[in-house]
Amino acid sequence: MPDDVRAAVRPAEIEVDPEAGLLRILWQDEHESIYELPALRPHCPCAVCQGEMGIPGVVNDATTFTQEQSTLVDIQEIGRYALQLIWADGHQTGYYTFTLLRSLCPCETCRAARARNAQ
Ligand SMILES: [Zn+2]
Ligand SMILES: [Zn+2]
Repeated sequence: MPDDVRAAVRPAEIEVDPEAGLLRILWQDEHESIYELPALRPHCPCAVCQGEMGIPGVVNDATTFTQEQSTLVDIQEIGRYALQLIWADGHQTGYYTFTLLRSLCPCETCRAARARNAQ
């Protein structure tokens, strides 16, 4: 991986503000991502939510989440590669890799870049 790509998926600082419902990651390339925690819940990458081996997951575009399901109670850093998000309904099997999180960055710049790539 080239250095600039690596820096884009390595966090320099991670901050959670459960009361505001926000997760802030400052990346080593000095990009800052501020996520609304409930917006991360539908992206839970675990096999139950997203499915695996041809079996559909329980989450799709039409899925709605209860407040409990989208309230974060804890966050654990898994090695150097992922964050485990633990939700109030007890769901905690989703390991959000930093690559995934960076690809979900909701800032204007990243959203615009994703829209360009999708065309
Ligand atoms: Zn899940
Ligand atoms: Zn961004």
